[in-house]
Amino acid sequence: MCIFCMIANGEIPSNKIYEDESVIAFLDINPTSYGHTLVIPKEHCDSFLNCPDETRNHVFEVASKLANKLEQTLHCDGINILSNVHEAAGQSVTHFHVHLIPRYKDNDSVTIEFHEIEKPDFEELMNKLK
Ligand code: 5GP
Ligand code: ZN
Repeated sequence: MCIFCMIANGEIPSNKIYEDESVIAFLDINPTSYGHTLVIPKEHCDSFLNCPDETRNHVFEVASKLANKLEQTLHCDGINILSNVHEAAGQSVTHFHVHLIPRYKDNDSVTIEFHEIEKPDFEELMNKLK
């Protein structure tokens, strides 16, 4: 069984900070910043892409409440909210989860960098996507 399913059903322990009927949130075991939290649905789905709408919406509702709580309680200066999809994007646990990563101006070891690529043909791209 997947490790986050085991956390969700209590088979392995976690530092849980929130629980309701369909969602739990717990502290990341290898935090990248103080307060790094994971929000997951109790029911297994592999990623953001294949999570039922109602569940995914609720995960984000809880993520939003907890992000506000992290800000108020830990007095962080910012928060990265992200969900990795597939290995190429850094997903190592194939159970949908949202990272809440508090950021601290003066004491921060997180790097999330965007490097520009050559500008694409926006017209062509837009027509593919819309
Ligand atoms: P991903 O790389 O899939 O986006 O993130 C998975 C996260 O889950 C990682 O940040 C990792 O530290 C965390 N993680 C993996 N196994 C466990 C565990 O057993 N307990 C907890 N609390 N976090 C875990
Ligand atoms: Zn699972």
